[in-house]
Amino acid sequence: MKGLAILVAAGRGERMGAARPKAFLPLAGRPLLARSAEPFQAASSVGAIVAVVPPEEIENARAMLGGLSKLRAVVAGGARRQDSVLEGMKQAPEGFADVVLVHDAARPFVEPELIDAVANAAAAHGAALPVLPVVDTLKRLRDDRVVETIDRAEFGAAQTPQGFRFGLLTRAYEQAFRDHVTVTDEAMAVERLGEVVAVVPGSPRNRKLTTPEDMAWAEALLREEARA
Ligand code: C5P
Repeated sequence: MKGLAILVAAGRGERMGAARPKAFLPLAGRPLLARSAEPFQAASSVGAIVAVVPPEEIENARAMLGGLSKLRAVVAGGARRQDSVLEGMKQAPEGFADVVLVHDAARPFVEPELIDAVANAAAAHGAALPVLPVVDTLKRLRDDRVVETIDRAEFGAAQTPQGFRFGLLTRAYEQAFRDHVTVTDEAMAVERLGEVVAVVPGSPRNRKLTTPEDMAWAEALLREEARA
């Protein structure tokens, strides 16, 4: 199986409070996008990589990723995540019928093993994503008050890559766009069709770097690993 990986890096990353889009911020000297592309180059289930970036970063991203033999295209993203993913999907070869894997460039520590596990589960079930158990007790809130406590065993925290048979994601996106619905992840578009989304165990390392504190955590992790 040779899947198409779409790395989405076109968000502004406003919670990071930095001048540049967060996928282009250096982590121990290397941009997040360069780091998150590497495991896809290494994963045996991936045949091609497309990066979706802000228009002004296209040249920079091409230079950064040019050494990857699997790089197929670097394209400009859109206003919403789903607009960016759609631009990536347009880079699929004519008649592509394999698995597409959509990954947040802001998750640089994804392992090739997790990528392959998602790709295999997506090929088997149509759609799959990694989840982590929720460790905190969950409260439903209204007007700054607790309304009820929810059984966390019923919940999982979704990570990426999210994997899909290409035809299924195409159909799910066509429906979401037709219905003028904004989805927060790709799986949500598939869920709206009533199709199965399988889960595989996520990885605690595969955290999305959203805030300056997350960057500090990531720098510390890399320092620790360099020492080991
Ligand atoms: O903002 P958030 O952290 O949820 O974004 C998740 C991923 O989606 C990021 O890697 C971001 O660059 C990407 N994204 C995008 N195009 C957008 C919005 C987000 O590629 N319009």
